[in-house]
Amino acid sequence: MQCPFCEHTESRVLESRSAESGRSIRRRRQCLQCQRRFTTYERIEFVPITVIKRDEKRESFDRSKLLRGIVRACEKTGLSSTQLEVLIDELEAELQQRAVREVTSQEIGDLVLQHLRPVSEVAYVRFASVYRQFQGIRDFVETLNHLRSGHPTDANADPAAPPETPGEFESSPSWATPSGTGNWQL
Ligand SMILES: [Zn+2]
Repeated sequence: MQCPFCEHTESRVLESRSAESGRSIRRRRQCLQCQRRFTTYERIEFVPITVIKRDEKRESFDRSKLLRGIVRACEKTGLSSTQLEVLIDELEAELQQRAVREVTSQEIGDLVLQHLRPVSEVAYVRFASVYRQFQGIRDFVETLNHLRSGHPTDANADPAAPPETPGEFESSPSWATPSGTGNWQL
């Protein structure tokens, strides 16, 4: 860290303390050359993530919106809100660690399924039924078979594979669009 007075690059830390309610660390430093004192702040870098919807529209990743969708799909599955918060934390951290700042809504849906799978099979199937818009019992049976056979997901989960039914994800499930337009779809 360059000294603001003489531009010397070495300093020693006199004091470190938590600032901004724990969101940053304030350090009091002294320049090793001119001996003058200055303050630096250390913060976690947070880069916004863009979600690409099925209709190619883009919008910012909205954690609370995704959480609401998952909570609704996982009602009465025995998962606590704390578990779902942890799931969202992990998912968001994964997205933050990616080099690419854009993610498709389908990728997010698949990520949710990946994280639900080890915690609750019921929640997994229920979320899949909403997210993939199951049409009938056959879709449930297929998903259960995949779950049992250990294969992660069905063909729709492969981003490289074209959707079997075009337009399958076109309309958004009601829980994903509480306020109508402007919501990205799952
Ligand atoms: Zn200096």
